[in-house]
Amino acid sequence: FSYPLPANEPVLNYAPGSKERENLKAALALLKSTPIDVPMYIGSAEVRTSKKEKLRPPHEHKVVLGTFSIGEKKHVQQAIDAALAAKQYWEGMTWESRAAIFLKAADLISTKYRARMNAATMLGQSKNAYQAEIDSACELIDFLRFNVHFLSEIYKQQPISGAGMHNRLEYRPLEGFVLAITPFNFTAIGGNLPTSAALCGNVVVWKPAHTQIYAAQLFMRILKEAGLPDGVINLIYVDGPVVGDVCFNHRDFAGIHFTGSTGVFNHMWETIGKNISKYRTYPRIVGETGGKDFVMVHKSADADEVATALLRGAFEYQGQKCSAASRAYIPSNLWKDIRKKLVDGINSFKMGSVEDFSNFINAVIDEKSFDKISSYIEKAKKDPKASVVVGGTCDKREGYFIQPTVIEAKDPRFITMREEIFGPVLTVYVYPAGQFEKTLELVDHTSPYALTGSIFSRDRAAIETATRRLSNAAGNFYINDKPTGAVVGQQPFGGARASGTNDKAGSILNLYRWLSVRTIKETY
Ligand code: GLU
Repeated sequence: FSYPLPANEPVLNYAPGSKERENLKAALALLKSTPIDVPMYIGSAEVRTSKKEKLRPPHEHKVVLGTFSIGEKKHVQQAIDAALAAKQYWEGMTWESRAAIFLKAADLISTKYRARMNAATMLGQSKNAYQAEIDSACELIDFLRFNVHFLSEIYKQQPISGAGMHNRLEYRPLEGFVLAITPFNFTAIGGNLPTSAALCGNVVVWKPAHTQIYAAQLFMRILKEAGLPDGVINLIYVDGPVVGDVCFNHRDFAGIHFTGSTGVFNHMWETIGKNISKYRTYPRIVGETGGKDFVMVHKSADADEVATALLRGAFEYQGQKCSAASRAYIPSNLWKDIRKKLVDGINSFKMGSVEDFSNFINAVIDEKSFDKISSYIEKAKKDPKASVVVGGTCDKREGYFIQPTVIEAKDPRFITMREEIFGPVLTVYVYPAGQFEKTLELVDHTSPYALTGSIFSRDRAAIETATRRLSNAAGNFYINDKPTGAVVGQQPFGGARASGTNDKAGSILNLYRWLSVRTIKETY
């Protein structure tokens, strides 16, 4: 069974009066008027506990979308047991049947649940309609379909055989269970991390960020409707350290598929290292972590293009993408022009609820993020080494709103040039236009991360120099484009250094990590 390269799911535009816009509005109204009590999905059971937390839109404190149950240690254990109980059946199933389930889930999202998935992502994670469409519809559908294609390509790869023998590779799933830990910022990542491992025949315990649960549970129900057998993916809402405590002490722990912070990933890696002799096999550790993504501008660049890339790359989804532009290096000859375009652009952005489709900016995810982001803005306001060019207003009375903010740093190593903020804050360092190469050194060595980055230039030699000098500074490098918006099958995504294991989500490379190959030689 070979599954040809699919086309990317088309992005709908939600123009006023369009059918998709009406459907989306109806889905938003429906979800807001029907609060749900979300269970964990463990094996065949829907598990609720007496410890509940409320689900609220980050942009509207007064609305309650529903509640979810917080699980405890025993639920993690039950999820592992359910996964291991499903393992034999799932890995024994033909891979075509496994693939059919995920392809059906992709079709269900594309046709039947698109509006509802987008509405859940908009309300639960405060994304505008476009940001939701490219995430919980297009990217999620693409992950599901492209992974089937990638796996069919892997299965085709077989060794040569000599006279009197036959050699073959058997692509086995890992021996044990895989833990998927997913972040709030992309519903698609929430969908991809458990399903990519499961497609390869693995069984999974899935722990989403609490702030992703509203969309995650809907995706889980779609997987069930598509025919996913009980126990293959088990969705639990348990605090991270408790999940780690149970999973990383378990003999059958076989791998982790993670997206989240560098600090958490480091801690997990250390724990796994300490426990290494407890496991049946060496676990696969796959993680996409932090970023401090750069935009480097050469004096030959087009100021309009740079400004547009910065406005979109730094502020779409309130800068809460691992890939978001957060430090820019601008040559002095272009700064006046770009500065004006940034100020005008930000002053033209509307900020507010996701239900008003003209709002480009919505809220940041929660109070902890709000406080962290605003504390960085305060630092810039107080420090003589920096100044706020535009924005800087933070208001959490009705929702967690932070105005898109541009900081100009006199010191290229100012704290907001170095540390990940994960919010709508862009710091600019203006360099003397003649110091391009020296500034490339700064770009490379100012932060420990290496996720995404861009070079803007109309001069081929400068593009060449930057591409070469920055070869380890980003896993996704863009020439004359913003550093966000990687598309499945087009720009495999991930970075190295403190940004992760660079196992490229949305590519064939990622799927290899969920397979353990047996080489079989038979002589005649
Ligand atoms: N793939 C997304 C992009 O290219 C970012 C994913 C992330 O934030 O982890 O914008």
